[in-house]
Amino acid sequence: MHSVEYAGKLAVIAPATGKVIAEIQETPVHEVPLFYDQGRKAFDKWSSLPITQRLAFLRKLKQLMVDEMDEIARVISDDTGKVLTEAIVADIMPTLDAIDHIIRHAGQVLGRRRVKTPLLLFGKKSFIEYMPRGVVLVISPWNYPLQLAMVPMISALAGGNSVILKPSEVTPLVGKCIEDLFMRSGFPQGTIQVAHGGKEVGAAFTAGKPDYIFFTGSVRTGKIIQQQAAKDLIPTTLELGGKDPMIVFGDANLERAAKAAAWGAFTNSGQVCMSAERLYVERAVYHEFLEKLKTEVNSLQQGDGINADVGSMTFPAQINVVKEQLDEALKRGAKLETGLKPEDWKEGMFLPLTVVTEVDQDMKIIQEETFGPLLPVVPFDTEEEAIAYANGTVFGLNASVWSRDREKARRVACRLVSGAVVINDVIITVANHGLPFGGTKESGIGRYHSEAGLRVFCHEKSIMEDRGFMKSEIQWYPYKGKYPLFLSLFKSYFSEKRDWVTFVKSYITLLKSNK
Ligand code: NAD
Repeated sequence: MHSVEYAGKLAVIAPATGKVIAEIQETPVHEVPLFYDQGRKAFDKWSSLPITQRLAFLRKLKQLMVDEMDEIARVISDDTGKVLTEAIVADIMPTLDAIDHIIRHAGQVLGRRRVKTPLLLFGKKSFIEYMPRGVVLVISPWNYPLQLAMVPMISALAGGNSVILKPSEVTPLVGKCIEDLFMRSGFPQGTIQVAHGGKEVGAAFTAGKPDYIFFTGSVRTGKIIQQQAAKDLIPTTLELGGKDPMIVFGDANLERAAKAAAWGAFTNSGQVCMSAERLYVERAVYHEFLEKLKTEVNSLQQGDGINADVGSMTFPAQINVVKEQLDEALKRGAKLETGLKPEDWKEGMFLPLTVVTEVDQDMKIIQEETFGPLLPVVPFDTEEEAIAYANGTVFGLNASVWSRDREKARRVACRLVSGAVVINDVIITVANHGLPFGGTKESGIGRYHSEAGLRVFCHEKSIMEDRGFMKSEIQWYPYKGKYPLFLSLFKSYFSEKRDWVTFVKSYITLLKSNK
């Protein structure tokens, strides 16, 4: 769903039907300091709870979401125009799985850890502790409005932070639904706060000095947020755009690869940061593969019914991006394999599923994020060429390599500059919460999911303990007479073949020289 703003209210329009289905009060920017005050007060209590108690709230939240799964799916579908199956499979399931994963692992991942202490620091013990940062600001986009807001939120909460969410103004009903789910799960007041509104509201909260910013959205906004954050040295995670390549070698399972290309490019109408946005096919099987792909694409059903495959676009402005890229490609000689020319598109939010060939690497359709149902297909001749094509954009979020030759597939995967690579599948790394998620190059900074995704919301604190029996340490003052002893201590210790006799002798003499 998209929204139109008037008099501090967001009118929510279902993209698939064009109907106004709700109205949401915008958060006035003068309330920003109030949110941070509340968040800081709540943080003091929340962070002092044992982690088991914090996780108990997540259990309640999970159960509520399981009980109301169908209702939540319908809110997501109304708000975004995505089909119900995608709402449940790609937005609700990953959120529930993330909660499950965090409940199972957060205690151990965020618990005090003992690490080795080097022999030269004899007599001491070393530990790492994880201390919550404070009030975390989560700013989320509209394409998977549930999981891209909730997963960072619950990760931050598990660590003991309080959270302010600024969900996308394009999908405000899901933002409201998230607020409601947390409220009804009984989270203490102020632990979770949701601020509704657009970029002005987002900017006001960014400038409000949160202790951490977790942003998911476009490269453009990511750069604005990073600049603002730099002024106050606020640490950030930026999960940004993608232009993911799919490389199909001649020895791949072509039938499976064609189905994967259709799904990888057109799921959620292509509005996926990790969708297959460029398809590179080995020339020997190019024509055969293209025919299979076209058959797949032409069999897909668009609509908003329970059995539809592809839903509508979510955000009207995105349609212009798709149109502009296709226009440029067609003007420069690209060929439509499926779909229609933009001038023949029907009014509304459903775009034709479009496969294009005869494109050049410098076209926008290859270089810029499309975020729509548009798939360029390009033949390649050698492994080197495929790798160069795949690495040839400013993005690096996900990629896929298709071959029955595992060694070749792994070799190519290893050379792709990308936050994730899938072999003989697409997109799927995001569904394993045990794997880190994030981008390279302009696709972002930082990782979440996995252990990294819990620890990023905490200060990593190093602790060393000494029992405090000795009067002094060998490296403390006075230095008189110590230099030659340190020389022989370190030479004997760091030599490839350690000289233990000299080491022990030097160490004992140093200890004795301590007054
Ligand atoms: P967007 O950048 O327009 O908006 C994202 C959020 O930022 C919204 O909540 C918006 O209100 C807020 N915002 C906008 N301007 C702001 C400002 N100046 N200060 C603070 N907040 C501001 O992105 P979008 O159109 O909602 O989402 C689509 C983009 O998100 C695509 O580029 C897509 O690739 C990317 N994305 C990335 C991931 C990932 O995990 N890497 C996942 C999904 C989407």
